[in-house]
Amino acid sequence: MPRGVYVRTEATRKAMSERMRGRIMSPERRRKISLAMQGRVLSPETRQKISEAQSQRGREGTRGEKAWNWKEEDVGYSALHRWVRKNFAKTGICQEYDRNVGSKTQAGTHWACIGHEYTRKREAWRELCPRCHRAFDALEKGSNRA
Ligand SMILES: [Zn+2]
Repeated sequence: MPRGVYVRTEATRKAMSERMRGRIMSPERRRKISLAMQGRVLSPETRQKISEAQSQRGREGTRGEKAWNWKEEDVGYSALHRWVRKNFAKTGICQEYDRNVGSKTQAGTHWACIGHEYTRKREAWRELCPRCHRAFDALEKGSNRA
């Protein structure tokens, strides 16, 4: 088929983009594409699209839910704890007795996972002082693992 005649359907586009995803271009290939692109005039619409795509990089667009390494469930234990610390705002109050510990640092309160159900759901977590956290963990261990 002669070049330029073939109309790419949405499905074809999608398949192509899928194949390309995550692939690393060789410097040679990159250079060829760059040469081919030289002198080409982009429509304002295309420019706008490129600009939008690039402004997303390293910003919200590549973080959180849109990040390439985002996993809905089955998040690694430490990765999840890091995520929780970053995304749930601590109050400095131990939820066990509503006791104000006066510190939001690791020494003040911890995030304890209820039922050891490691998810990103806020209701699955409790803010506890270290003492209650220890007691809570001991209790959980006793009931769950005997
Ligand atoms: Zn406490």
